[in-house]
Amino acid sequence: MVRTALAVAATADPRDVPVGAVVFDGSGRELARATNAREATGDPTAHAEVLALRRAAAIHGDGWRLTGTTLAVTLEPCTMCAGALVAARVDRLLFGAWEPKTGAVGSLWDVVRDRRLNHRPQVRGGILEAECAAILDDFFRARR
Ligand SMILES: [Zn+2]
Repeated sequence: MVRTALAVAATADPRDVPVGAVVFDGSGRELARATNAREATGDPTAHAEVLALRRAAAIHGDGWRLTGTTLAVTLEPCTMCAGALVAARVDRLLFGAWEPKTGAVGSLWDVVRDRRLNHRPQVRGGILEAECAAILDDFFRARR
């Protein structure tokens, strides 16, 4: 699933930081995919995870509740995206590279596993970490 997100990240608008997110249903079928698109859309909330959750909810058939789904993303989610996936009742989060500067799933904060929340998704980070970090490194190196 993270490998699929990695392929999606590679399709990001060249102006945008290449992050890819894919939502899968309980049987592993892809519901929706998105790239980070802040530059392309001029929308500060257009992170890959938020866009993928919106698209998945539109077709999932249970309104805004994405119960039973898995969100796979190439980079550790930020606070906004971590909050969004908890709000969406996503069951499982899989992510690739750690984001020590802004990560909210273990790096700076751990928003999704806060015991005060009544919904806490399962989490696995560091999947295909090197490959997920490499696509970001290449992007930032090319900008310097
Ligand atoms: Zn985010």
